[in-house]
Amino acid sequence: MAKAKPLTKTEMKKIFKPIILKEIERLEEEIKRISGETLGGERTSVYSMHMADVSGEIYDKEFSAGILSKEYEQLSALRYALEKIERGVYGLCEGCGEPIPKGRLKIMPSATLCVKCESARQSELNGRAKRLF
Ligand SMILES: [Zn+2]
Repeated sequence: MAKAKPLTKTEMKKIFKPIILKEIERLEEEIKRISGETLGGERTSVYSMHMADVSGEIYDKEFSAGILSKEYEQLSALRYALEKIERGVYGLCEGCGEPIPKGRLKIMPSATLCVKCESARQSELNGRAKRLF
């Protein structure tokens, strides 16, 4: 496989910075929407009417909280990516130091690992989860 070329500073600023900024904006909107729903309680009361007990309501709140924490995680990953653009090190794998292919960065602008390191990390995490349960 041909080695990917590292991104130039122009590519970082002209291509990836706008993608990341747009994604941050989208996530912030999403977080506002989800927190509004959770705090408003409108949706949860409709849910619990259809459920025989309160477990549905609790589940729904936990569900929103679960999504929210994922969104926050994603948001901080994107802010981190932005910081790396400013430092001119965006797009380099934090595992092996090789450039991450542009195609991957366009789909996952917050990626900090190349596919190889990412799948190695995933299988390590899976292995750890199996040992826990
Ligand atoms: Zn790597």
